[in-house]
Amino acid sequence: MKTDKSQKLFEKAKKLMPGGVNSPVRAFKSVGATPVFIKKGQGSHIWDEDGNEYIDYVLSWGPLILGHSHPQVVEAIKKQAQLGTSFGACTELEVKMAEKIIEAVPSVEVVRMVNSGTEATMSAIRLARGYTERDIIVKFEGCYHGHSDSLLIKAGSGALTFGTPDSKGVTKEVAKDTIIARYNDIKMVEDIFERYGENIAAVIVEPIAGNMGTVLPEEGFLKGLREITARYKSLLIFDEVMTGFRVSYSGAQGLYNIMPDITTLGKIIGGGLPVGAYGGREEIMRMVSPDGPVYQAGTLSGNPLAMIAGFETLKILSETSNIYEKLDKKAEKLCKGLKESMVQNGIDVTINRIGSMMCMFFNKESVHDYDSALKSNTTLYAKYFREMLKRGIYMPPSQFETFFLSTAHTDDDIEKTIETSFEVAKIISQ
Ligand code: PLP
Repeated sequence: MKTDKSQKLFEKAKKLMPGGVNSPVRAFKSVGATPVFIKKGQGSHIWDEDGNEYIDYVLSWGPLILGHSHPQVVEAIKKQAQLGTSFGACTELEVKMAEKIIEAVPSVEVVRMVNSGTEATMSAIRLARGYTERDIIVKFEGCYHGHSDSLLIKAGSGALTFGTPDSKGVTKEVAKDTIIARYNDIKMVEDIFERYGENIAAVIVEPIAGNMGTVLPEEGFLKGLREITARYKSLLIFDEVMTGFRVSYSGAQGLYNIMPDITTLGKIIGGGLPVGAYGGREEIMRMVSPDGPVYQAGTLSGNPLAMIAGFETLKILSETSNIYEKLDKKAEKLCKGLKESMVQNGIDVTINRIGSMMCMFFNKESVHDYDSALKSNTTLYAKYFREMLKRGIYMPPSQFETFFLSTAHTDDDIEKTIETSFEVAKIISQ
């Protein structure tokens, strides 16, 4: 595979940008490779600057559930661009988008649009603190909610103690307001609440975790969170930036029938353009400025291009029959084939999947929390990634990321991916 152009671009990029990238995982560091520079995408395929073609299982980290450059979405963006790209003023599109989200997401009665998932979760935390007049946030190890200070926190030295900064530049003072719990460990959450419950503003959780690979909530976990937070009058925040409109049209909350107080969204609702949103019960959302005292604003919030791309995407998702069932079937076929390719070559693998989000852990044991995810063989995943990439299959450049499928992936794509995985499994098992 020729990669001269990508290599040259990366050399130049490294001089101009930290690590040569605008978001760390794109640097391919954890898989010991140099990034390919993408020039275009169509459907389930992408092409790099050297002309290499790949089947894409990253899909911009989740937003592109309809694949790249869906004609209806592209047409709508073009039309809107001709009318204007930003007004910083009220538009009908924002109203239509709010209506569409509220119709779909069961617990959302009022919604505010922002520009990224990070902004959505940061604002949701501020709102929870403003509403409850409490300071402490509980989050789970291995869940990612963007890079705002309160959420860039890792576990402290002892169980049930406050967190420590997970990045330079985050102060110890901020970390003191975040407690880290173990995913799927409801007993630990109960213990934390027994000790600090009166001061806990909210629990924030990925209802299906997608940022330590894919990790599903065990029976009773989400229900337990709902019950405990309600008992202590704390809020439950579902971060559905990844799962929203991905695992079902009503997100993880619809799938499991658990209603959080606040929901954060992003990715799919922007149809590939920068977007985020947070919404919830009316009484809580009325605390947001200018209705209430919790301040939050944005020059480009509700941007017409993002609104139209998102609106068209949601429209297609809501109007196409059995779209989620079809995605599920395709993903099932893919996972079955990938697993078989490993088993036949004596490689330990655990595949976690829900609908069209999945992860192939090079791990013998079940993966149900961060500690078990960390037991995966990252060196082997890195080899697998590099060999698959060389053969035209673009998988997430880290063991701890989720693979996505789109409606544009064909049976041929899936068969080719499985065939390639058999070929690569043979190589990496030696
Ligand atoms: N929340 C979740 C669950 C995410 O997966 C992500 C990003 O991957 C974020 C929040 C942050 O979103 P963004 O990257 O748009 O800031």
